[in-house]
Amino acid sequence: MSEHDLSLPSLTPPAARLAVLRQAEDAAGCCRQPVRLRGWKREHDPATGEVIAAVDSSDQPGGYLLIPCGNRREQVCPPCSKLYKGDTYQVLIAGLRGGHGIPEDVASHPAVFATLTAPSFGPVHRGPRRPGGQPPQCRPRRGRPLCEHGMPMSCGQRHEHGDPAIGQPLCSKCFDYAGAVLFNASVPALRDQTTQETRRQLAATLGLSQQSLRRHLRVSFGKVIEYQRRGLVHVHAVIRADRPGGAADPAPPWAGTRLLRGAVLAAVTTPAITLPHPADPAAVITLAWGSQADVRVVRRDIDGELDDHKVAAYVATYAVKGTEQTGGIPVPIRRLSDLDDWKATGHVRRLITACWQLSHRDEYQSLRLARWAHQLGYRGWFSTRSRRYSVTLSG
Ligand SMILES: [Zn+2]
Ligand SMILES: [Zn+2]
Ligand SMILES: [Zn+2]
Repeated sequence: MSEHDLSLPSLTPPAARLAVLRQAEDAAGCCRQPVRLRGWKREHDPATGEVIAAVDSSDQPGGYLLIPCGNRREQVCPPCSKLYKGDTYQVLIAGLRGGHGIPEDVASHPAVFATLTAPSFGPVHRGPRRPGGQPPQCRPRRGRPLCEHGMPMSCGQRHEHGDPAIGQPLCSKCFDYAGAVLFNASVPALRDQTTQETRRQLAATLGLSQQSLRRHLRVSFGKVIEYQRRGLVHVHAVIRADRPGGAADPAPPWAGTRLLRGAVLAAVTTPAITLPHPADPAAVITLAWGSQADVRVVRRDIDGELDDHKVAAYVATYAVKGTEQTGGIPVPIRRLSDLDDWKATGHVRRLITACWQLSHRDEYQSLRLARWAHQLGYRGWFSTRSRRYSVTLSG
């Protein structure tokens, strides 16, 4: 129970705000853009009514409190982002290995790590498959064909990590910008459908109704999105099977990693969102995950190719990033000319422009493409967890 007369900005969830205030002096010293607050806040023990914590800005030099901005983005506030990344790692690893009040037995619950990709909207220059890896030859093609716009549809180069060409289309006229941003805008719906489909597949494999599945098995998720260099959104998800009690409730012995992985693999191919076609209102465009979906078992017993630490670190890394990997801009635009204030790549400008243009059409109103143009059409959380996945830390 708490009382306050502060109009605290909603930078953090309500339960975490007092904790943030308590840490304010230390953390705000590092934050790049601390927020000034005037007022007071108290927290009472719900049982005794005793004041257990109190802060008052009038006790502070200058009469205001400095609280950290709490921004998760590396690009916006590196110190706050570092805290957020650390918290995300802790939450993820606790859900795989135990800790922070979660029993270590959670490590015996089957877990998989899924990467849901975007389909192709036109050929782009390719870099190394993994950080530090050897770059493959970009797009070798016999006879070096040209597209209808006279641009080469092949590229014999090996683009090293950091090469600005990576992710840029071979021909911007061939690239389907409208399709790409409609895909990004459909990711939240595709993600929800995939979650439901995973449960449906599990029930079908076990020969149970979905209702009885819920009595035996709970599927928990920790998800994060990643912008690829080509401006399309990927989803990475840790998916764990428990009994209905969640992390503290041992998984049924019949719910193994093979069952879970099979259900997720089958679930990825089903979701599809249908929207009016941007070039032909009489037709439809169907948006689905790309064919490169990858579902791997998270190993807790050995330090292997994909162990729990790697998965948690991977997710935490993406949780603090936005569109910067694509050469994007960090804030919403109010008019298309706002783009001139930012150093965005030509490819990103075309993606943002596609959002802006489609936003004026009645059939796409629900996608709120103008509001989310700076995120290349994607709206929604960058990292989310289902309620029983793990602990919740401050911030
Ligand atoms: Zn900050
Ligand atoms: Zn190339
Ligand atoms: Zn072309």
